[in-house]
Amino acid sequence: MPDADTPLTSIRARIHAACTAADRDPDTVTLVAVSKTRGADEIAALADQGQRHFGENYLQEALDKMPALAGRGLIWHFIGPLQSNKTREVAEHFHWVHSVDRAKIARRLNDQRPADLPPLEVCLQVNLDNEDSKSGLPLAEVPALAARFGEWPRLRLRGLMAIPRADAQDHNRAAFRQLAMTLSQLRNTMPALDTLSMGMSADYPVAIEEGATLIRLGTALFGPRPPKQDG
Ligand SMILES: *Cc1c(COP(=O)(O)O)cnc(C)c1O
Repeated sequence: MPDADTPLTSIRARIHAACTAADRDPDTVTLVAVSKTRGADEIAALADQGQRHFGENYLQEALDKMPALAGRGLIWHFIGPLQSNKTREVAEHFHWVHSVDRAKIARRLNDQRPADLPPLEVCLQVNLDNEDSKSGLPLAEVPALAARFGEWPRLRLRGLMAIPRADAQDHNRAAFRQLAMTLSQLRNTMPALDTLSMGMSADYPVAIEEGATLIRLGTALFGPRPPKQDG
């Protein structure tokens, strides 16, 4: 039964090709559809094609859309900057958070994760370019924060996330490689870490070659976002 030609099917084919080129099993790469600024109807249409993982940046926007999509077994990833006053609702409504970059946020998410839900899956967001304008902790501070997760049983540290500067792909390859090396070093003492959240619409094949296990695609799936909310 041939699939209809949709952005999702062609992205799946490119993921497959990138995995083959890198000698990787395609099942080790999870596609997170970044649905910020997109309506519940557009999310439902992708869910109907078998897409299960969705990423949102803006808490209120995500909470507004979730009720219409309940019961579909979707897995929600919070990927935007996270302030203390937003942690409770993130802990209550999401399965994953990719943007934890300080102990205070981690502790709040731990304390606020409802007891009837499994632990929240967490990635530490790393600021590889040390840009002041971006969230994320410096690479050098990752081991110390990772080591503290024993204090937070309601969180399960899974790995690292980064948003490299959107310039030449060669730079991004170096950044992806740096993130992968850092994860591999952490795995010496924390072998359960298994997640590299890296790669967006412009560079996900490169990210897959460098070991990405979660790629976050918005534009490639949904088309360009309105400029005002882009980012
Ligand atoms: C918006 C966003 C994406 C998706 O970006 P595209 O270039 O549209 O694929 C991925 N990750 C994060 C953290 C984002 O904010």
